This record gives sequence, structure tokens and C-alpha cells, in this order.
Amino acid sequence: MDEALKTCAICGVEKPLSKFRKNRKTRKCMACESQRDKNRRKADYRAYMLEVARTRAKAVGRECSITLDDIVVPTHCPLLGIPLRLSGDRGHRPSLDRKDNAIDYVKGNVFVISQRANSLKGGLSVEQLAMFAHNLLAYIGKP
Ligand SMILES: [Zn+2]
Repeated sequence: MDEALKTCAICGVEKPLSKFRKNRKTRKCMACESQRDKNRRKADYRAYMLEVARTRAKAVGRECSITLDDIVVPTHCPLLGIPLRLSGDRGHRPSLDRKDNAIDYVKGNVFVISQRANSLKGGLSVEQLAMFAHNLLAYIGKP
């Protein structure tokens, strides 16, 4: 059976639908989308983080009223102490996070941490994270 094809508006190559993101009326293939994201990250990482936050906020009906000035990238992750950098290990990449997950992307509620810290934090509350650390120390012990 022939798979339906679609022509990418960017590279102009005719590709199977599986090479395009599903549930989206996109005209760009995933390879072109990924290259575009890479270029945006390279051009201005703060602008890239802001755009990602705006897109995410819009998708879940949250407010995103922060501006570029609210995004300050420190040299090290404030939560894990590891250096933040754009190349190499993804875990070291700067990542915009909300201090309080219950509050939107508004002034004062965002900070830049490492992707590693962001994924460890997940959607947990500060209380849950404190409980996690407390129990971890209790079960595994302090090094
Ligand atoms: Zn393409």
C-alpha cells in the first residue's frame, strides 16, 4: 500500500506523512522543524526559551507575560551547581522553569536552571521535593 506523501514547504522534498508531526497542520517536515529549532537555539538561546515558554503556556491555557529581560542565565545551575552551557551534555543546557508550578510564567516566578534539574523537579511541589530529599537521606543515608 502506498503511504500518503506530503511536500515540505521548507526543503521542498516529498516525504511520507510519518515524517511530519501528527495532529498538526504543519507544512514543515520534522527534519526541517528540528533544524529550525537548532538554528533558533544557536541564534539567541534566551529568545528560544521564551518562545518555548509562550508556546507551552498557550497550549495549556496559561499566562506567559514575561519578557526577555526576565530571563537571566547564570553561569551555574542554582539547584545543582553544575555549569550551564549550550553544547555537549543536554543536562547542562539552560532551561527556563517556574519557581512555583502553580503559578504561570509571570515576572518573579521564572528562573533559569539546568535541564537536568528541571527534569528532576518535574511537576513536583517544593514540599514534595523536600519530602523526597528527606526520605532519600533517611533510606540511603548521607554520604
Ligand atoms: Zn523539510
